[in-house]
Amino acid sequence: MTNQTSSNGASASSNKRVWLFREGKKELKDLLGGKGANLAEMTNIGLPVPPGFTVTTEVCTSYYANDKQLPAGLMDDVKAAVADVENAIGKKFGDTKNPLLFSVRSGAKFSLPGMMDTVLNLGLNDEAVEGLVEASGGNSRFAYDSYRRFLMMFSDITLKADYPGLSKEGFEHILTEHKEKLGKVEDTELTGDDWKALCETYKEFFKEQTGREFPSDPYEQLETSITAVFRSWNNERAIIYRNKEKIDHNIGTAVNVQSMVFGNLGEDSGSGVMFTRNAATGENVIYGEYLPNAQGEDVVAGVRTPKEIAELEHNNKAIYDELIANARRLENHYKDMQDIEFTIEKNKLFILQCRSGKRTGTAAIRIAVEMVNEGFISKETAVKMVAPSGLEQALHPRLKDTAKAKRIAKGLNAGPGGAVGMAVFSSEKAAELGKGGKGEAVILCSQETTPDDLKGMLAAQGVLTSRGGRTSHAALVARQFGIPTICGCSEMKMDGHHATSFTTPDGTVISEGDWITIDGTEGVIYQGALEVEAAGQSGDFATLMGWADSFRTMGVRTNADTPEQAQQAIELGAEGIGLCRTEHMFLEEDRLPVVREMILAGNTAARKVALDKLLPVQREDFVGIFRAMDGKPVTVRLIDPPLHEFLPNQVELAKEVAVLQTKGTPDAVKEALLRKVDELHEQNPMLGLRGCRLSIVFPEIVEMQVAAIIGAAAQVKKEGKDVHPEIMIPLVGHVNELTFVKNDLERVAKATQEAEGTEVDYMFGTMIEVPRAALTSAEIAKEASFFSFGTNDLTQMTYGMSRDDAGTFLTTYIENKIYKEDPTVSIDQTGVGRLMQISVDDARSVNPNIKLGICGEHGGEPDSVKFCAKLGLNYVSCSPKRVPVARLAAAQAALESQSK
Ligand code: PEP
Ligand code: MG
Repeated sequence: MTNQTSSNGASASSNKRVWLFREGKKELKDLLGGKGANLAEMTNIGLPVPPGFTVTTEVCTSYYANDKQLPAGLMDDVKAAVADVENAIGKKFGDTKNPLLFSVRSGAKFSLPGMMDTVLNLGLNDEAVEGLVEASGGNSRFAYDSYRRFLMMFSDITLKADYPGLSKEGFEHILTEHKEKLGKVEDTELTGDDWKALCETYKEFFKEQTGREFPSDPYEQLETSITAVFRSWNNERAIIYRNKEKIDHNIGTAVNVQSMVFGNLGEDSGSGVMFTRNAATGENVIYGEYLPNAQGEDVVAGVRTPKEIAELEHNNKAIYDELIANARRLENHYKDMQDIEFTIEKNKLFILQCRSGKRTGTAAIRIAVEMVNEGFISKETAVKMVAPSGLEQALHPRLKDTAKAKRIAKGLNAGPGGAVGMAVFSSEKAAELGKGGKGEAVILCSQETTPDDLKGMLAAQGVLTSRGGRTSHAALVARQFGIPTICGCSEMKMDGHHATSFTTPDGTVISEGDWITIDGTEGVIYQGALEVEAAGQSGDFATLMGWADSFRTMGVRTNADTPEQAQQAIELGAEGIGLCRTEHMFLEEDRLPVVREMILAGNTAARKVALDKLLPVQREDFVGIFRAMDGKPVTVRLIDPPLHEFLPNQVELAKEVAVLQTKGTPDAVKEALLRKVDELHEQNPMLGLRGCRLSIVFPEIVEMQVAAIIGAAAQVKKEGKDVHPEIMIPLVGHVNELTFVKNDLERVAKATQEAEGTEVDYMFGTMIEVPRAALTSAEIAKEASFFSFGTNDLTQMTYGMSRDDAGTFLTTYIENKIYKEDPTVSIDQTGVGRLMQISVDDARSVNPNIKLGICGEHGGEPDSVKFCAKLGLNYVSCSPKRVPVARLAAAQAALESQSK
């Protein structure tokens, strides 16, 4: 049993199942839900909140634990609370003269907007409705309109599951028929008598469907509605929403029972929703909408177009001023931007709800910084209140308005940002038409991408693949270069590698040259060209990041392969390079032929000839990077992927050779290439000849790379710059692999320094990306100066799940809650994280000074960054655009650990 602290500071037992609003407070969100806790808080600070009470979330969890039964005696507690409300407002529940009516709403700890159920106007029956006519000054139109709404809503919400005929649509159909019979079109044309007649028809319909009378006892209505709200906690959309927002399925919802106020009692009434600051830009201006003579549901449901809140000032200055004063008060009280629902009943203002307002990343930054400047909050609070994921959104170009756009498919959101372009279906076409070619906007669409596609990817505004996961090659490269990308979109049907179109589930065919828009942040594809807006790195952004850095204790580096990327990352606050994938340097157009020559070489001597050509080129790459990093540490990883990744596609090449042979024009080079491709072909290349295995079998390649790294470092050092290369040996699973490679390379490093006549401050380390390496870290750490967790491979190998193919089943796994989250996005702390913990503990026990970092894609994901901070890693490394996200998440981790 949990104990909560009550408003008077004493410990309040959770035996209390029903809380009057005046008994609660904002800190009791676990027990009262967000809405209930805020209604209580607003009541206690004197805001005009219609009185009511909250049935706790614990009642909901006990309802589920008890075979969907409300606890015994609950309705006695509810009755006592109703009596209190009756006294407070001088009306009686079910009264035939001046009836008290209730709204019954859900409200969990975290808001699930619109996902659960609500019943309004509860307490009406044939007698009470006449009382409402009387109490509203003879307004029978209003009273019977409220009654028919209640008959429909109550039936739909509480009984539809058992009687599908009782759906809202069923009632709407009757209303349409009723209007036709009356010869009327708009609801507003119906009189009180018309609505009254409709209520009769509704009740008959209810009886037809259920075989019994509509329940007229208000307490029976209330009990049934409370139960229905609890039941709605587990409706399909609520479950989907919780999965998406990572909300615990076991916390349950509270039920708020609140006396009704009416915004539809005439022109001196109305309802609205407002934000205390602009939720899109963060500007400190009121932002909201208002509908005169309407209930709140009308504003939210969008049936009528609301007016700007400014019109209220014009129409009713006194109420507007009161509303603004209350809004400012609430913002000041909660120290955050508020989203407020209000109703005006006959010139009297009521606040029905307040909560922290949802906002864009850009708005979040501006609001946090301005609130510090206004003396509202501390810098620590500002850093804690901005969601790191929002920062990423603030940095990428984004789609301006998707509300009316035609959405045609959904895939994995692999590279954030919005991109618009004409669909092209090959890298060659992308390169020809796109950036660096004709300069047109193109989206590269393909089954998957390979290293060969790099040029096409770089020429495109965005990349869309039907296969591959978030850590597939396409996704890695995309994030690194800031290209919006959607991967693993199995919904789009494409015919092989030579496709020139794709078809989406709704039958839309996108052919070459058709405009499409992709939202890489959400993974959604739209037909046509939507508007994209550029991200701004405003002064507020820099201010917030400065504060974050002052609290952060863990370092943030970047994954960068070129001086340009390194430069961009430094501008975004990177403190070094945590991963330079040297093989990406091999892919550039002028190098690939030499790399192929090296791979095709029949013997070591021939291989060395090609490597000698590559040496100066690679050395120049490193010179560029070391200069750009100017003293900051640089982790260079030696070649990692299997060699065949640098060769042409086996199937394509075989076809070409076959054609040449039939024409009788044999091509010795092509045939040799095909033989080599066949020879290097592996059934499972991810687990094959790659990483340090490659260095053991073909040592000359990494020897060349180390000579290039040390040679470049010596050169830049001689220019007067500080250089600290950290040479990283990948895919080690056994300590002997590391010592074997390292011993050979130490010799090369020594020889290169001698040749250069300069000493270089370098170190050797390894990646921890094979589970065995994590488990034997005590042995490996004796031989390494640093570890970097390669969580892409570590996740792949721990799960036994191909990172290149996972897209085909991961979505189904997540949808079915087999995995709570995608482990390629956020570190699986239970499994992969446990291996990391073992590795950290064992490594530090034998080598206390070992430097520990992470360079897998998780290094830029906020929850994973926080986990790495908890493990005590020295740094995280991520793609350049995610550097600010990692800085902020690391700062939040430090502040969270301080407050524990
Ligand atoms: C990793 O495996 O996490 C890693 C960084 O290496 P790569 O993605 O290049 O295999
Ligand atoms: Mg790896």
